[in-house]
Amino acid sequence: MLLKEKVAIITGAASQRGIGRATAACFAHHGARVVVLDLDETAAQRTALELGSGHLGLAANVTDAEAIQRAVAEVLKEYGRIDVLVNNAGITQPVKTLEIGLEDYNRILDVNLRGTLLMSQAVIPTMQRQGGGSIVCLSSVSAQRGGGIFGGPHYSAAKAGVLGLTKAMAREFGPDQIRVNALTPGLIQTDITGGLLHDERRHAIIDSIPLGRLGAADDVAHAALFLASDLSSYLTGVTLDVNGGMLIH
Ligand code: NAD
Repeated sequence: MLLKEKVAIITGAASQRGIGRATAACFAHHGARVVVLDLDETAAQRTALELGSGHLGLAANVTDAEAIQRAVAEVLKEYGRIDVLVNNAGITQPVKTLEIGLEDYNRILDVNLRGTLLMSQAVIPTMQRQGGGSIVCLSSVSAQRGGGIFGGPHYSAAKAGVLGLTKAMAREFGPDQIRVNALTPGLIQTDITGGLLHDERRHAIIDSIPLGRLGAADDVAHAALFLASDLSSYLTGVTLDVNGGMLIH
């Protein structure tokens, strides 16, 4: 039980095959009280129920500061503390630079990057009062290698922004014992690709992975557990690759 009695908010955790959902199940298994936060209230509540008793499902759009404040107030009313935040909500779009419209740019940057900032801003004062906490931010291998797998350049930029934000927050809030770390998954089999990744491309990607397979949501969930728990008590500002060796350098 690595997270016994810890309260953990996981954004974007209602996607059935998603990284957030797998992380929620893993954290619940390790004794956490999990807050499943996602766009759709029914889906968030259903996911929380599926985790067992003592968990909470809430609706909030991570780009909406007021909705986030309302959700965080609910969490504090229910549990009185927040120990872990996993900034997992994210969206992507497989387009090339010259195809990126302003609306697409805003939407991809807003969910991936602004959402990470707003959620972190909403929980940090509570973590400061408590004397510590752990924030885990989902970046991507796309940030490190300039895309080329599925997401477009705006996604790579947003996820690179997440890395910068993670390191800056780690530096700023280290003295408060708030650890902030990033995960950079490779290609993980979830619904984020919306069925648009064709077999030929998939096989080419697998050929470039030393461990010879795509990632599973649980592979990322286990790394999130490590960063969320005291197992990583002396780590902050790190970027942890979860990519089967795709980017050994
Ligand atoms: P997914 O599409 O399965 O789940 C994403 C979840 O985020 C969904 O439940 C969705 O409803 C929610 N969401 C979207 N916009 C939101 C918003 N504005 N507010 C609140 N919730 C919102 O995706 P996934 O593959 O599980 O990805 C999870 C995270 O991991 C994302 O940040 C993604 O960029 C990152 N990532 C994924 C991969 C991959 O290959 N799957 C690789 C690297 C990084």
